[in-house]
Amino acid sequence: MPAQTETGDPLLLTPGPLTTSRSVKAAMLHDWGSRDEAFIRINAEVLARIAALAGASETHVTVPVQGSGTFAVEAMLTCFVPRDGKLLLLVNGAYGHRAAKICAYAGRAHQVLETPEDTPVDLARLDATLAGDRTITHVFVVQCETTSGILNPIAEVAAIARKHGRRLLIDAMSAFGALPLDARQIPFDAMAASSNKCLEGVPGMGFVFIRKAILEACAGNSQSLAMDLYDQQVYMEKTGQWRFTPPTHVVVALSEAIAQFEEEGGQPARLARYTLNYHTLIDGMARLGFMTFLDPAVQAPIIVTFHAPGDARYEFKAFYAAVKKHGFVIYPGKLTQVETFRVGCIGAIGPTEMEQAVQAVELALQDMGIGSGEPAI
Ligand SMILES: *Cc1c(COP(=O)(O)O)cnc(C)c1O
Repeated sequence: MPAQTETGDPLLLTPGPLTTSRSVKAAMLHDWGSRDEAFIRINAEVLARIAALAGASETHVTVPVQGSGTFAVEAMLTCFVPRDGKLLLLVNGAYGHRAAKICAYAGRAHQVLETPEDTPVDLARLDATLAGDRTITHVFVVQCETTSGILNPIAEVAAIARKHGRRLLIDAMSAFGALPLDARQIPFDAMAASSNKCLEGVPGMGFVFIRKAILEACAGNSQSLAMDLYDQQVYMEKTGQWRFTPPTHVVVALSEAIAQFEEEGGQPARLARYTLNYHTLIDGMARLGFMTFLDPAVQAPIIVTFHAPGDARYEFKAFYAAVKKHGFVIYPGKLTQVETFRVGCIGAIGPTEMEQAVQAVELALQDMGIGSGEPAI
């Protein structure tokens, strides 16, 4: 019997959408009116609870935005960086490059400080660049770059940005809820995350924590009506409602997901489970001959990049289909230089499922006539 969820679907080892619990799915079996009082109450609670989770209740407001995580990142960048501002982007993967592309579309001046995909962002260069360029107003960093799974040193980045008096914007999408990120310890001005990653909700909404003290200064920055977080916040403050059709089912599912998160023991418990998932995965994959792309010292327990097997019979599409036949959905690699694939450790899954995932990979290799996962390098 291949592993599967209680709905008969394969388990998603993709970092959002991911496998959700039965009760999160069940929360969506109702229709809610967007102006309904019960919905407005649930929505307000959800936003307050995620602010508390980020230690940001006193200092920040949580402003939601419809769409996938990128919508929240784009809304954050265009709402925060004034049209005559300049953003310094710390880049070591595709999500950093995507932020640069957002700036190019939106006509925001920006500069990229890039490190290789297996190397954390460069703090010394950040410090020197800020010291040398007074026109840079904002700094952007990705906490866990999902391209490789690497963890960036955001506490150090925040300290350097603060030392130079620049505003800090964080893409915490892939790690929010699992890795610690507390506004009382790490002084950020804005941070973007979404419903469908470590909070284990369903996809459809992002949210941005905005420092209350600078909210007013964001008025008029956005050149997009739908993406204008300032406008969204002003309207929500006044009416309790989203400006345009809210993703009602996503919000109620997130409410249930947060209840489960709190029941599990919050961020430390979630990190502990994902860490166990991660070790079960990499130990099992090592037994099959696979090699991870990153040095474990810089690896977050969120998503793991593996080198592709060196065997000539290996081909990602066939491997993906074979693993799926045995009950699991994996992720293609996203690196620019090397042939890889990725496996997520997040979602409503535990070490038992990770052990089964390793078995599925073993069976897939057998199906393809591949003796070992050992890479060619
Ligand atoms: C998932 C993710 C995003 C958003 O991607 P979407 O596909 O738009 O949801 C942004 N940044 C990081 C680091 C992510 O992992």
